[in-house]
Amino acid sequence: MTPIASFQALLRIPTVSTRDAEAWDHSVFDAFHAELRAQFPLLHKTLELTRVGSHGLLFRWPGLAKDRPVVLMAHSDVVPVEGEWTHPPFGAVVEDGIIWGRGTLDCKGSLAAICQAVEDLLADGHTPAQDVWLSFGCNEEVAGDAAPLAVEELRRRGVIPWFVLDEGGAVAYDAFPGVEKPIAVIGVTEKGITSLELRVDGRGGHASTPAPLGPTARLARAITRLDRSPMRASAPDATVELFRRAAPHAKTPMRYALSVAVRSRALLTRLLLLAGPEPAAMARSTIAVTTLSGSPALNVVAARATAGVNIRILVGDTMAEAIAHVRKVIDDPEVRIRVVDAGEPSPSSPLDEAFDLIAATTEEHFPHAVTSPYVMMAATDARHFTKISDRVYRFTPFEMTKAQRESIHTHDEHITVDAYLKGIAWYRTLIERL
Ligand SMILES: [Zn+2]
Repeated sequence: MTPIASFQALLRIPTVSTRDAEAWDHSVFDAFHAELRAQFPLLHKTLELTRVGSHGLLFRWPGLAKDRPVVLMAHSDVVPVEGEWTHPPFGAVVEDGIIWGRGTLDCKGSLAAICQAVEDLLADGHTPAQDVWLSFGCNEEVAGDAAPLAVEELRRRGVIPWFVLDEGGAVAYDAFPGVEKPIAVIGVTEKGITSLELRVDGRGGHASTPAPLGPTARLARAITRLDRSPMRASAPDATVELFRRAAPHAKTPMRYALSVAVRSRALLTRLLLLAGPEPAAMARSTIAVTTLSGSPALNVVAARATAGVNIRILVGDTMAEAIAHVRKVIDDPEVRIRVVDAGEPSPSSPLDEAFDLIAATTEEHFPHAVTSPYVMMAATDARHFTKISDRVYRFTPFEMTKAQRESIHTHDEHITVDAYLKGIAWYRTLIERL
């Protein structure tokens, strides 16, 4: 079997995860594990496997030492198929040097590349310098329990990872305005996701005799107040560092503007806020009112109005601060605030020896790229590992265009054969250097 054929075999198994426990197709995940066993026999022979939760896999590759164990992560589940695909989403079609399919980037690409690197190293008789753990979740896309259970298992065994590496950043082309070079972004923190429900109760009644400032009007007032008063902004260290490293590679006049901005956090923050919603989200915690409900009928005054609020908390802020901000800005005790989901931002991982190892491996395999830390906007399973390790990094060693990054979670997800093979080589070097 070639590495590409092994990867294709895994891509063809539709391991779609769902929040609906009843709709979960366990047989598909059993099939995935059987295929993994078939494709990577040495790995399954040498590494010790512990099952976590329904289909989470935790492998231990015993190293020469175990004082600085390392965890490499990925997940086997994928999001459902959406939109019109050029090639069948679970066909794993290879055409003109491109592999098409759901999961090529998120996240079977990393899972398969990690396994291939391990398999190849085992075939060469390699023993890693340190224990290497592979943690493959099965329900990352639905914020499931596999990763927290893997963390519990490691904690129970007294394993304190030197560093943890999960999916996240990439060798990203067109990532930065005015910079032609790709930027290899390594996530050192991720935003925390907290969700609130705002609720206003009232008398309701017939729509022909409404009272002023009923539940809907009161809720609308609260929402517009929130919209007008975002949280304070301050670009975190990782964002400042990203701009500092990228600025010299920008074209003029952007290079000039950026090199001035990175000298002052306040200036960079202001620039990001002016540059649009995406850059602005790098500089502050964001608050989005998402769901809304009021009366079920056109001629009935709502007795209750509710709104869902999704908050993405940036490192430096806390959940308590965000909720206090919401309460203060709404300034109305009639608007009840309930926490639906609680999530703090992940602490920033240091830019020390472990980061340098990941960065040096990246510079070796992608010498044309600018390597930098950054703040991840999305949530990954990696956040759970901050409980047992100070160094949690999020990096997928694949070159990705903007179109490829945008295909994640939508249609036409794909990776080039070349990028996939380079990814395997990257994981191999990383393990060899431990
Ligand atoms: Zn993923």
